[in-house]
Amino acid sequence: MSSELLVWINGELVPKSQAKVSVFDHGFLYGDGVFEGIRAYNGKVFMLDEHIDRLYESAKSICLVIPLEKEQMKKAILQTLKVNGLLNAYIRVVVSRGEGDLGLDPRKCLKPNIVIITDKIELFPDELYERGIEIVTVSVRRNSPQSLNPNLKSLNYLNNILAKIEATNAGKPEGLMLTLDGYVAEGTGENIFIVKRKELFTPPAYMGILKGITRQVVIELAKEMGYPTNETVLTLHDVYNADECFLTGTGAEIVPVVKVDGRIIGDGFPGTVTKSLIQRFRVYTQQVGVPIE
Ligand code: PMP
Repeated sequence: MSSELLVWINGELVPKSQAKVSVFDHGFLYGDGVFEGIRAYNGKVFMLDEHIDRLYESAKSICLVIPLEKEQMKKAILQTLKVNGLLNAYIRVVVSRGEGDLGLDPRKCLKPNIVIITDKIELFPDELYERGIEIVTVSVRRNSPQSLNPNLKSLNYLNNILAKIEATNAGKPEGLMLTLDGYVAEGTGENIFIVKRKELFTPPAYMGILKGITRQVVIELAKEMGYPTNETVLTLHDVYNADECFLTGTGAEIVPVVKVDGRIIGDGFPGTVTKSLIQRFRVYTQQVGVPIE
């Protein structure tokens, strides 16, 4: 077996250096397509069904028929992890509109391209979780659900990339995005929670956020641990005055936030609720999931 990573493209496993799609693919030309970011822990794929459902919902929303049943898609993901010998991995599934002409019309694209990339997961430094991070509110607003619904995980990520650039220019690892009305939405690639008097608060999905799968897991684990979650409209004032704050996402898991726009959150250290959730989440990810074998 080649030491090169194998990428699944339209049913074939291709070495990474040869894993290519056409420049006429509308995913490349227009960002016309959908994707998912998934993780495998300890030989099991975490929340696989939830990610697959979200992928197919995103596809349906843009009238993209994925030429693979959900079960086949799951098998393909498991197969790709297996051939690459990966037990802990980051998985990227991309379904693009496919090759077309230079116009916008998706009807000219006859066959979607399906790509499954599995790779070693690049973990964030431990220090980040121990000390927490500082974030800033960015000026670019989260896409309005009336124009491009953030619940649709499309290949158009410029809204988030512009926000990330702004945060990076301000010297901060992550940016906080607001809705058009100025309410708290989410990070550039994570959802946001605050903790106040041992209760969790997070913006509701209808505010125009990605309904994160980690967000949902955290809501459920927190409930079991006796911390109720309120899905409610949040202002920056609420965030600045929170006891604790954290971000959630597949890649980042749960990251404590200790400063927002120069305001110290709580006592400036990751809070007890956040720390206990991180601990519980880490155990949970090792326990559940769809086995690769
Ligand atoms: N918000 C945005 C904009 C995202 O791209 C993501 C996923 N990277 C999230 C939130 C977190 O979602 P999940 O927990 O499903 O990874």
